[in-house]
Amino acid sequence: MVSKEFLEAVGEIPGLHIQENYLMADATTFKIGGPADVFAEADNKKALASLIILCKEECVPFFLLGAGSNLLVSDKGIDGVVCRLAGEFDDVTVSGNTVTAGAAISLAKLARAAQKAGLSGLEFASGIPGTLGGAVYMNAGAYGGEMKDVVLETEYMDAQGHMHIICGEDHKFSYRHSVFCDHPEYTILSTRMRLVPKDSDSIMETMRDLNARRKEKQPLDKPSAGSTFKRPEGYFAGKLIEDAGLKGYTVGGASVSEKHSGFVVNDGGATCEDVCVLIKKVQETVKEQFDVSLETEVKFIGR
Ligand SMILES: Cc1cc2nc3c(=O)[nH]c(=O)nc-3n(C[C@H](O)[C@H](O)[C@H](O)COP(=O)(O)OP(=O)(O)OC[C@H]3O[C@@H](n4cnc5c(N)ncnc54)[C@H](O)[C@@H]3O)c2cc1C
Repeated sequence: MVSKEFLEAVGEIPGLHIQENYLMADATTFKIGGPADVFAEADNKKALASLIILCKEECVPFFLLGAGSNLLVSDKGIDGVVCRLAGEFDDVTVSGNTVTAGAAISLAKLARAAQKAGLSGLEFASGIPGTLGGAVYMNAGAYGGEMKDVVLETEYMDAQGHMHIICGEDHKFSYRHSVFCDHPEYTILSTRMRLVPKDSDSIMETMRDLNARRKEKQPLDKPSAGSTFKRPEGYFAGKLIEDAGLKGYTVGGASVSEKHSGFVVNDGGATCEDVCVLIKKVQETVKEQFDVSLETEVKFIGR
């Protein structure tokens, strides 16, 4: 719970749009999650800085949400403020072989802008349902590409509302990891990427091909948060889960997808509790049968 005074102060920040007790099931691709005390949309850096500073002063927890495509939110909801970026954070500009975009832009829109400009390198990202901020945070990747391959520099805001820029290796990218995972208090504002000139039509063809492969293999017709588990070294999570006989295994409204065992899907009305019990069952069974530990890729948040 946040105080009435805090709510009043937040409500007075220009460029910020707030809602109380916002149901996180409506803000995540899993369609799971109880209410956030305060849901805020920040249109610009000034509004964001004011909110971050206020949360710090008042000891109110602050969580930065992207498209909510890699999250499992507690049925009990989230304490404090959940903030989504909007407005100026949705911009993209192309200059020569580089593209600079705000953290809120969807990867689909970003990849399309690069394709239109005849720039290759983001085809792999065009079907990932996240934002640029979430993709940099997670070092999102698919079909042999990852953010690490294209990112030059990232501007972020710290917990005091100050802005910084990091370049190249300072991102500390590795498999589904970046420096931002070690500093959840940082908010990614924008990222500059270096791409490679290529014929627009051929870029479009690659994007269509990758998205068709995605549609064929993944249960895109059901709510999920993508691959539930990270790829264990030397194995594929989906294959291990299928070989363990867990394809289609159900707990409440959640199940291991019949189409791709690496995905836990929401068949309708799944709770966070259902998904957690299912994940535990999968982890224990795979460990027992193959002595492999499955680590979740999906991030749990909430109270
Ligand atoms: C159907 C489906 C398919 C998917 N396929 C893939 C795939 O092929 N490859 C892949 O890598 N992932 C995939 N994902 C997972 C997910 O889309 C990616 O991890 C994506 O990068 C998450 O971005 P997001 O904006 O949704 O972040 P969220 O899920 O909202 O947040 C994830 C984390 O990033 C942080 N974050 C988000 N924005 C910012 C910011 N601006 N500043 C600081 N921190 C931030 C959040 O605080 C949180 O900790 C898939 C998901 C689904 C549902």
